[in-house]
Amino acid sequence: ASPNEIKLLVRAIAFASEKHSTQRRKDAAESPYINHPIALVDVLANEGNVTNIETLCAAALHDTIEDTATTADELKSIFGEKITSIVLELTDDKSLPKHVRKEKQIEHAPHCSPEAKLVKLADKICNLRNIITAPPADWSAERKQEYFDWATRVTNGLRGSNSELESIFSNLLKTKKF
Ligand code: NDP
Ligand code: ZN
Repeated sequence: ASPNEIKLLVRAIAFASEKHSTQRRKDAAESPYINHPIALVDVLANEGNVTNIETLCAAALHDTIEDTATTADELKSIFGEKITSIVLELTDDKSLPKHVRKEKQIEHAPHCSPEAKLVKLADKICNLRNIITAPPADWSAERKQEYFDWATRVTNGLRGSNSELESIFSNLLKTKKF
């Protein structure tokens, strides 16, 4: 990576850490929210061998518009059009009822940009791993299974984006225990 790419990725992680600073994951230990975007960057770079800087920055920023007060204009002014457009592809419309949002993710997955597809794949891998090792505190086995089934339907629309990440996802489906 060039010096400017390294700087931009560090800026994205620092920006996300400020935006998510008061938020926690849903596991019993209430882990810091920022662990999740950082886990996506790690999975993409070190397990998917993804080095594209827009993809890695978008992964760090993927939940900022959806879950914090961050606006698209704010992202554009710091990270530019391309990274912002990837983050927007990864942002659910929270004015819609939950079941509609979930169905839209399944419908939209095959039409996403290659960069957004990679981040989506890493997001589902990270959330399945969380559900196996540090699940939301109040989830039954049935609720976990429903999430696995939904994530599988989204991921079916992402085939052909990255063979390493796709086999990590299918191995998670095979080895899951709860
Ligand atoms: P939720 O939004 O309720 O919770 C899952 C989301 O929470 C993840 O996608 C992740 O989103 C975030 N998250 C935070 N902490 C954790 C953690 N420790 N482990 C895993 N995820 C965490 O579920 P969904 O709305 O995504 O529902 C998915 C499926 O479940 C759908 O098929 C839906 O229909 C079904 N469902 C079932 C319900 C039931 O009661 N049986 C209720 C609601 C939905 P992020 O990456 O954005 O942080
Ligand atoms: Zn996420």
